[in-house]
Amino acid sequence: MHKDIATPVRTKEILQKHGFSFKKSLGQNFLIDPNILRNITEYGGLTKATGTIEIGPGIGALTEHLARSSKKVLAFEIDQRLLPILEDTLSPYDNVKVIHQDILKADVRDIVEEEFKDIEDIMVVANLPYYVTTPIIIKLLTERLPLRGIVVMLQKEVADRIGAKPGTKEYGSLSIAIQYYTKAETVMVVPKTVFMPQPNVDSAVIRLTLHKKPIVEVKDEEFFFQVTRASFAQRRKTILNNLTSQLPNGKAMKEEILTTLEQLNIDPTRRGETLSIEEFASLSNALYSIITKE
Ligand code: SAM
Repeated sequence: MHKDIATPVRTKEILQKHGFSFKKSLGQNFLIDPNILRNITEYGGLTKATGTIEIGPGIGALTEHLARSSKKVLAFEIDQRLLPILEDTLSPYDNVKVIHQDILKADVRDIVEEEFKDIEDIMVVANLPYYVTTPIIIKLLTERLPLRGIVVMLQKEVADRIGAKPGTKEYGSLSIAIQYYTKAETVMVVPKTVFMPQPNVDSAVIRLTLHKKPIVEVKDEEFFFQVTRASFAQRRKTILNNLTSQLPNGKAMKEEILTTLEQLNIDPTRRGETLSIEEFASLSNALYSIITKE
């Protein structure tokens, strides 16, 4: 076994050797605690049959742990300056492929199909760049990649919103979008001291396990998400007011929206944050039927 990249001493050595300086705009906060990396890797439940996708390998601190536990690792890195460093630090591992692409622009589905041809178990494990955590997770889920799950480090505040239950102030359209696709759990809360440089916010690791069957039947996913976003547009407004002011043609449909809510036994004076995913699904299905005159 090789010496870990992620000790403060070795990380400093690597950065110095290559004259690397952190770019704040790319969310570069590297992990310098091997225990945290071991824990993240364990939460991934990786085996020698797993294909693991990493977003933002940095200098390879997490990547080497993933390489030791997986069959193959695909690591997407946007910063060209890190490529020669990764070539150096990851030279002991022959099962890692670094892809120099912005994860938000990459055709991940195509790349995964090509690179993980003979692999059935696919996981995403990463310490995400915090300026784009939500778009990355949404992209991985809406593109319907054949994933078993996602284990990622992100801002604790975002982790709280992702896992939130109805009736709490953290519950919103993000909680619903993620819980529609996955079972979401916060598995670790992580202090700032394990990063170099230290971020300004607290961090957490979440585990998202993809549902094998959808937890609710939705006629049109895009419309379902539109209804949930509309319902939270102004948190202090009632569900009826938010829907009429936010949905296209909402004002003209006020009477129909009111009748639909009453038929579904959803009090129109309730606020969006009190509705369960099941209630949002029946509401959006009923409104969708009206709009499409099904
Ligand atoms: N995995 C390393 C670690 O844990 O020490 C680095 C994590 S650091 C929080 C985030 C990494 O994501 C950086 O290496 C950064 O350059 C990279 N990154 C930022 N935006 C990206 C994007 N859109 N696509 C791919 N990589 C990105």
